[in-house]
Amino acid sequence: MNIILLGAPGSGKGTQAEKLAKYFDIPHISTGDILRNSTDPRIQNILSEGKFVSDDEMIELVKKRLAKEKNGFILDGFPRTIAQADAIKSYPSKVLYFKIDDELVKNRLSLRRTCNSCKAIYHLENKPPLHESKCDLCGGILTQRQDDKDVVIAERLRIYHEKTAPLIAYYAKEGSLVEIPSDGTPEETFKKILARFGL
Ligand code: ADP
Repeated sequence: MNIILLGAPGSGKGTQAEKLAKYFDIPHISTGDILRNSTDPRIQNILSEGKFVSDDEMIELVKKRLAKEKNGFILDGFPRTIAQADAIKSYPSKVLYFKIDDELVKNRLSLRRTCNSCKAIYHLENKPPLHESKCDLCGGILTQRQDDKDVVIAERLRIYHEKTAPLIAYYAKEGSLVEIPSDGTPEETFKKILARFGL
């Protein structure tokens, strides 16, 4: 089974991808995680400004990775443009579109903190850590992602609406779009997804 996750930054793609990967036992491929692990300063610069890495680079990276996956995948953060979607047309996929308002995105991202060590995610109001700045799970240090600063969030949303939102109509036309309201808790959203799979 191939699953593509589509939605604004902060719509919960990463969180649901983890859950789906465990449930269906297929790999979670997050282009954001792959890029954040890059040591190339040019890439880090693009990320910290909330811009997109070029289509050519992203397509090459993802195609190489998908060629290795024989039993399906969960793609999180790709495609983000029509050109990227065209590039993986040969992989029939279900597309889960996480629907959410910009205001909620801004709240989620600005209050998000991530563990430097085990990558666990917190929200300062909805899922606060027991001790400020310390991970409940591993004791690692909690930090704010560079691109979760307010100005960068605004830029990510602007680019999302310009470049990525057209993919909603693209996949709807193809008949592969499944819309999931994504304003609830992670558990509620996951239940909605499973229900749409008939599970
Ligand atoms: P979010 O969905 O919360 O914005 P991601 O972790 O998916 O975060 O991506 C972080 C950043 O990585 C993006 O803002 C962008 O700079 C870069 N990136 C990830 N995937 C792509 C892609 N498919 N095309 C271009 N840039 C990408």
